[in-house]
Amino acid sequence: MTYQVLARKWRPRNFREMAGQGHVLKTLINSLDNDRLHHAYLFTGTRGVGKTTIARILARCLNCEKGVTSEPCGECSACTEIDQGRFIDLIEVDAASRTKVEDTRELLDNVQYSPTRGRFKVYLIDEVHMLSGHSFNALLKTLEEPPPHVKFLLATTDPQKLPITVLSRCLQFNLKNISPERLVEHIKHILDEEKVPYEEPALWQLGRAAQGSVRDCLTLLDQAIGYCEGEITDTAVRAFLGTIDQSVIHELVDTLIANDAAAMLKIIDAAADHAPDFSSVLADLLSYLHRVAIAQVLPDGIDNSQGDRQRVLDHAGTIAAETLQLYYQIALKSREDLPFAIDARAGLEMALLRMLAFAPAGVPIVPQAHLSADEVAPDMQDPEDKVKKKPPVNEAITGHSRLISSRADVPLPKPAKTPAAKDEAQSAAIQTSAVRANSSTAAEVKTLAENAPQEKDSAQPLAEKGDVLSKDRLSLQTLSSDQWISLFFQLGLDGITRSITANCLLGEVKGRHITLILDESQTSVFNEEQQRRIKSAFDKYFQEELQLEIKTGKIDAETPSAWRERMEQERLQAAIIEFENDEMVKEILERFSGVIQPDTIEPTSPKQY
Ligand SMILES: [Zn+2]
Repeated sequence: MTYQVLARKWRPRNFREMAGQGHVLKTLINSLDNDRLHHAYLFTGTRGVGKTTIARILARCLNCEKGVTSEPCGECSACTEIDQGRFIDLIEVDAASRTKVEDTRELLDNVQYSPTRGRFKVYLIDEVHMLSGHSFNALLKTLEEPPPHVKFLLATTDPQKLPITVLSRCLQFNLKNISPERLVEHIKHILDEEKVPYEEPALWQLGRAAQGSVRDCLTLLDQAIGYCEGEITDTAVRAFLGTIDQSVIHELVDTLIANDAAAMLKIIDAAADHAPDFSSVLADLLSYLHRVAIAQVLPDGIDNSQGDRQRVLDHAGTIAAETLQLYYQIALKSREDLPFAIDARAGLEMALLRMLAFAPAGVPIVPQAHLSADEVAPDMQDPEDKVKKKPPVNEAITGHSRLISSRADVPLPKPAKTPAAKDEAQSAAIQTSAVRANSSTAAEVKTLAENAPQEKDSAQPLAEKGDVLSKDRLSLQTLSSDQWISLFFQLGLDGITRSITANCLLGEVKGRHITLILDESQTSVFNEEQQRRIKSAFDKYFQEELQLEIKTGKIDAETPSAWRERMEQERLQAAIIEFENDEMVKEILERFSGVIQPDTIEPTSPKQY
């Protein structure tokens, strides 16, 4: 018997067998069972989360010979042929390889003919964002008036690249990344069925390495089975993934606390015997420091999925909050700088040595008492008050910590209060700002400075147009969600921060607490650094220290990104009309029997944003 890869062998054949995506499946099952079918479905999400799998199952649901159902029989010829990829009325297209308009026309030419075998002709277009502008127009015409026997199932990793006109004609489903817990559960089931023995921690390694993708997880599992020859063990999986035992991270943190550089280098040397990927060691360290920081404010927030809850809590009680923030920031910057290090191991060693060099002497060890619930609780109840309550000597440190953590909803533990600790804290503040000056601050100031004129320029034409946009300075007291697009263009953001924010909506504004809602499909590029930059732009604009919360959610209004897209479309349409009505163009067309190719027209009117 030939070996069949797991991803193929265990590809779900009905909705029940899917791992995750319950929110999407529920809606699809309901619409199938209640006979409320749409003619075009769009599935979005990162790679390997199940977009085409769901689409293929839906094709079976629509064409099963037993009738339209959310539970296709899996036995009739329609079900089996779809499964084997040879059902004549399921037309699968990879848009990445067929981007030209001729391809799309050829594809859509046959749309009006009835299905040969099935009930519906199903067009499954994967990576649909890769189609050219012409192809989209051809597709759009069919989407506007689809014959009743046709269903479109579109899938994309990048819905932002789809024209709004196409988006608006599809029922859209955002597929989420699958949690490590769900992935572990899934592969555990498969291994039990396949009768392959395993150690559970090994599965957690695989579940985390797959980064939310079922397909990647099964591919890794295939490799692990090949590598391990028999039982899938934690050690073997670590070796093949290049990760290290979590206990190495614990030991490294111990040496930081003990201020013992020699022992630290010895641990790295010993770890090198297993040829780990040192950049992932640095990532593991970051993730560990994050858990320790969370444990300091919310001990119950730490689960034991990695079997080290007690170690995390011990470290949380031993390292001062501000020192921990310093370690974290150094690890974060070092990770960013890693490509420039001679090699990853040197990068890791320098990061750890830097933590020792900058750690305020004597401060790391603090009594656990300062983490008691009594002290933490008031801050949690009233986060707005915490700045006022701080003694002035600690302002610099808390300011810095806030800058790094930038999570307004996580209160900061108070620094130690003994007089000796005060002095040390002060020296920590000085050292801390030295680190900042070396890293992000200079770049930040530069970025802000560069943005100032751009902000003015972009706001100028908006006001002239008299659209929803205004260049008037907005006030926090009267700020409302319908002013969001105007505010966005005045914030002076750039780069990836700008594009993330462009996919947000303004949620609640309560005093100094502002909530942004980030499109679920945009979360992959969002991180703490981005949160910090966005907050800093808001602070700068309103000239106040704000509490900015960014949560993911459903987008139910026009984001700045969608607005810009619409403006761009309208601008192009206007140019096309102007061109077509031009007397000289008309004459040329007539005399030479010419044809206008609309997508070669470029608007020359100034952009409205
Ligand atoms: Zn069937």
